[in-house]
Amino acid sequence: GSTLEIKDLHVEIEGKEILKGVNLTLTGGEFHAVMGPNGTGKSTLASAIMGHPKYEITSGSITLDGEDVLEMEVDERAQAGLFLAMQYPSEISGVTNSDFLRSSINSKREEGDEINLMKFIKEMDDNMDYLDIDKNMAQRYLNEGFSGGEKKRNEILQLMMLKPEIGILDEIDSGLDIDALKVVAKGINKMRDDQFGCLIITHYQRLLNYITPDQVHVMMQGRIVKSGGPELAQRLEAEGYDWIKQELGIED
Ligand code: ADP
Ligand code: MG
Ligand code: MG
Repeated sequence: GSTLEIKDLHVEIEGKEILKGVNLTLTGGEFHAVMGPNGTGKSTLASAIMGHPKYEITSGSITLDGEDVLEMEVDERAQAGLFLAMQYPSEISGVTNSDFLRSSINSKREEGDEINLMKFIKEMDDNMDYLDIDKNMAQRYLNEGFSGGEKKRNEILQLMMLKPEIGILDEIDSGLDIDALKVVAKGINKMRDDQFGCLIITHYQRLLNYITPDQVHVMMQGRIVKSGGPELAQRLEAEGYDWIKQELGIED
């Protein structure tokens, strides 16, 4: 699997420093959770990795198997194997879900080696069954009028179809009821193998009842301030974040 390495990353938005030296290594095949209070920079980290133009990298590095990710255009990052499920996925009118998926898959393949249409349809069908997604979703315009839960399931469908090296899931659990949450977790767990690494960004520990991360990182005020195993997420659920602030002498 691929290794994503983030070193001393500093990121500004509109002249304000949001990330103040993030260090994180995601080794291929591992699931890492990034947790933290609201407004600490979790989504900023996801956006910076994917190359959102609004986020200015002022110093530090991001590499994928040693390749400089910061030198890549957004589409090159996807080609290289990075996948981002956004906290607020955008709607694309006039492009069906099915067409979007197929062209995304084909854009990662060589010309002349496009995915077989029947094979594609079969695979999409199977995955939609697995995720309890209504069949008519395939022909609907991407994210247009999708409910919150449908959007999140659909992001997992994309993940399962595109099979990236690294998935970055930003609050994939937000706004989901317990049944939808279990389905989303089931899809992510099905992806588990040594070729797939995943950064699971979440405010709540809830999702981690269904997905056991190899490591948990806590982000506060633009830095990873603590890392540990799954038990760290459980302690955060039970006790909140205040004890870490006290431990580290962080003021609000
Ligand atoms: P989190 O995902 O941890 O809740 P964010 O990364 O969304 O945090 O935000 C971190 C900080 O950056 C917040 O103070 C937020 O207001 C600010 N911020 C995020 N995105 C933007 C933006 N597009 N423009 C201006 N400020 C932003
Ligand atoms: Mg964030
Ligand atoms: Mg966020």
